Amino acid sequence: MLSPHSISTPTPEILLATFDRHHGISVPPFASLNCGFNVGDDPDLVRNNRAAIKQALGIRRLISAKQIHEDLVYIVDNSPACDEEKEGVDALITSKRGIALMIQHADCQAILLHDPVQSVIAAVHCGWRGNVLGIIKKTVQAITNFSQSNPHNLHATISPALGPCCAEFIHYRQELPASFLPFRTNDNHFDFRQISRFQLIEAGLPPENIQASSVCTSCNHNFFSYRRARRTGNGITGRNASIILLKEKTDSGEERERGKLSHNITKSFRYPH
Ligand SMILES: [Zn+2]
Repeated sequence: MLSPHSISTPTPEILLATFDRHHGISVPPFASLNCGFNVGDDPDLVRNNRAAIKQALGIRRLISAKQIHEDLVYIVDNSPACDEEKEGVDALITSKRGIALMIQHADCQAILLHDPVQSVIAAVHCGWRGNVLGIIKKTVQAITNFSQSNPHNLHATISPALGPCCAEFIHYRQELPASFLPFRTNDNHFDFRQISRFQLIEAGLPPENIQASSVCTSCNHNFFSYRRARRTGNGITGRNASIILLKEKTDSGEERERGKLSHNITKSFRYPH
């Protein structure tokens, strides 16, 4: 069966997972676990890949966003009868159990947030435009408005994404604000992991509640990468999947017990380097 690149259960009720591009059924240039409908792949193959992801994690319902590199946040406050892809939003929030939130990314960051006190989760699609627009802070504010969360209780996990090794911005003077200049690593390269980390701290998260993968999706060929696809061709490629789930409770507490076991196994989880 399909298994994620990384999976963790930081608390018994939360599941986080990121999948690499392998073990799906899409064919090049989407080989093979492409989860994106909007990149030119056969929709039937994408549906199959998404079904395999759901099966691997035991997910009943999957909500995704038809991301547009803007800063709109959508709150999933009903229990949808089927999987849905929300138009025109780049962040999703829910406190509904059993509904997985998925971000599709190929160099952009998926930032997965959870508040174990108020039992609320969020998933943010954050590319450089998202950093410029402040989508991280806007999502944290939306969580606190929605669930009375204290940002101090939020935890954030940043997925594999474009590393400073490959994040070259030749036109940075036009594209990036001056506040990003401290994160310039050399010449025209920027460290967007550190920018997101800084923005999460600015939004109120304690530094110790933030963890980030050090995998660069452009360097590591196990992941889809828009930059790599552009370097080697026309930029057409698939999308990696990152997922967060607030687990369902059962009357018997069975789910929670299983979650506790998983928590013990993965409590020292870090993204593989
Ligand atoms: Zn790189």
